[in-house]
Amino acid sequence: MARPGLLLAAKFALGTMLCLTMLLLRHSEAAPLTLSTLEQIEILAGDHPNRAVAELRSIESEARKAPRETRAAFLSVQGYAQALAGAPAQAHKTAQELENLAAGDSQIAAEAMLVRASAWQGSGNLDQAADAASRALDSLHPGAPARLMYWAQNLLGSIAREQGRHDLALKHLQEAARLADENHWDRRRGMVLNTLAALYLNLRQYENAQRAIAEACEIARRSNQNATLASYKLTEANIHGASGARPEQKDALLEALSLARASGARAAESAALINLSDYFLSAGDYAAAIEHASQAEPIALSFQDWSGRATIQTNIGLARILTGQVTAGRSLVEAALRTYVQHGARNDEVAVLREYGEALRKAGQTDAALEILLKERALSEELLESEKQRVVLELQAQYESERKQREITLLNKENALKDATIRNHRLELRVWSLLALAVALAAVVIGLLYRRVRSTNRELAARNEQLAIQSSRDPLTGLYNRRYFQQRMAELDANPLPPQADMVRATYLIDIDHFKRINDQLGHPAGDAVLIAVAERLRVALREADMIVRWGGEEFVVFVPQIRPDLMADLARRIIAAISDHPIACESGLIPVTASIGYAPFPLPPGDIRLSWEREINLIDMALYLAKAHGRSRAYGVVRLLDSAETSIAVIEKDLEKAWSNGLVELVVTQGPPPHPVD
Ligand code: GH3
Ligand code: MG
Ligand code: MG
Repeated sequence: MARPGLLLAAKFALGTMLCLTMLLLRHSEAAPLTLSTLEQIEILAGDHPNRAVAELRSIESEARKAPRETRAAFLSVQGYAQALAGAPAQAHKTAQELENLAAGDSQIAAEAMLVRASAWQGSGNLDQAADAASRALDSLHPGAPARLMYWAQNLLGSIAREQGRHDLALKHLQEAARLADENHWDRRRGMVLNTLAALYLNLRQYENAQRAIAEACEIARRSNQNATLASYKLTEANIHGASGARPEQKDALLEALSLARASGARAAESAALINLSDYFLSAGDYAAAIEHASQAEPIALSFQDWSGRATIQTNIGLARILTGQVTAGRSLVEAALRTYVQHGARNDEVAVLREYGEALRKAGQTDAALEILLKERALSEELLESEKQRVVLELQAQYESERKQREITLLNKENALKDATIRNHRLELRVWSLLALAVALAAVVIGLLYRRVRSTNRELAARNEQLAIQSSRDPLTGLYNRRYFQQRMAELDANPLPPQADMVRATYLIDIDHFKRINDQLGHPAGDAVLIAVAERLRVALREADMIVRWGGEEFVVFVPQIRPDLMADLARRIIAAISDHPIACESGLIPVTASIGYAPFPLPPGDIRLSWEREINLIDMALYLAKAHGRSRAYGVVRLLDSAETSIAVIEKDLEKAWSNGLVELVVTQGPPPHPVD
């Protein structure tokens, strides 16, 4: 099984410039504790953290007496080295001491936070580490030492890389590289390039990774930093391995091994050996695999590196199985598996089970291989299940937040709906009030129209009345017209008045004598004036109940509803007198006027013969004709029938004069003044 290389050390390391012996020499000469001395120990810590811790312990008493600033620098390097040496608890203790020393000094407090971040990163608490490092960076004001800025940026970059937050890692690492460049810190720049190369490897950008690691190696080689170069070569070998360049991978591993050995960088030596054993295992060189793994074992044991030790056991065990030493090999691999189980390293356990099963199969241990493969499958399933559960939980969390979002959206929609309802309600109110206004206005308009209609109706009624009057009256004289008379007579025919004792109704037909002459001699207006005057004289002469009708031209009908028969001739005389006693005065002077009259009572005595009003008029017309024929200005009244038989009436109607001379009818003649002589 492959080891990830020496990035664990590289991620913290600030670089090595001086070797341990020089440091020890300096301190053995009792040089005063300066910031420069501490910087050398910090460099040492990058490749040899345990040695750096020991070195710091040796100058601790001196550091306690040093000024505050120097003491803070001492604690800072101590915490950093402890974190690298895999002693997070001690590192946190040192951070606490720094915090106590800070007492409001933000720079020292930031150093304490960076120590804590390093400790958390070392113990795998990446979130806490990132949080502490970014808080430290935030608290550093622009004038803070570049060393601290670099430390924070480099830490944040390497933590983010481990978290898989590649964009963020790139940003911080590039900033750390810029700071190193600006301050001509070659060693630190090499460090950042090594981490960047690992980042590019994660991103499968092999060319970028190659370029970065080549530059880092160049820097380390230039300044003879063999331990550092060894760790960079391990990174380079990983890049070659990932890009399939097997021979280059082997060369880089071998170079890393010799450099590590030359510089006494034990962790790098162990990593190089383990990776070489892995390389030889997959290349089928089992002896070489066992050889390199065995060489790594004492180093891993000295570091108490359980993971390295398990890898070594696995690689030796697999190599043994594949070379036929199945029992010995199996017991080694089983021991490694127990270690993984003990530490809960389940992914490592699955990976080893897979290689183990495969090796057993190759070694012809079919049953055992099957058993291991089933175990591997079960564990994978379990891991997959827990992974699935994790995904489900994540999905649930996501669903929760989406549900909340939906609820919020729903709430917003509801609110919008409520707003719309309120708006609708207001609109409704408006519509109703407008409607009410419209109704009120309509009521006013209707009221006005109604009043108008009423007054129009009144006008109409008045006009109708006038029209009725006009339609029943003669426009010139104001007397009833012929149409009205006919209508009244038809009504009376249908509903006769109740008969009164000794009373009859009488009808008089009056015709002005020689009226044409008046028109001809004095003009039509004079004729009109005569007609108007005659009408007026008739009105005066007759009673209110009598109906006076302009029958047509210069003819008038007088209908007397009730009259004693013996007074009928008197009435005829009165009419004659009214018309002819005095000449009529008009513009053209006095006009003498006479008239001829025919009349009769109804019912006609003695048999109370009831004739239709047309026959009645016809009879009196004949009487009038007799008056004209016998000299004008007189009245002829049909007083009674002497023979009441229906046949005699027919005869009378046909020729009154003949009937009169035959004694069928009694006529009364009333004489008027002599008419105006004819020209
Ligand atoms: P007689 O004695 O035979 O009745 O002779 P007369 O001239 O009265 O009768 P006739 O029927 O020959 O003439 C009637 C005239 O009355 C004819 C007509 O021009 C005239 N007349 C009819 N209506 C009016 C009217 O309203 N105004 C005037 N001025 N003349 C009218
Ligand atoms: Mg006439
Ligand atoms: Mg006439």
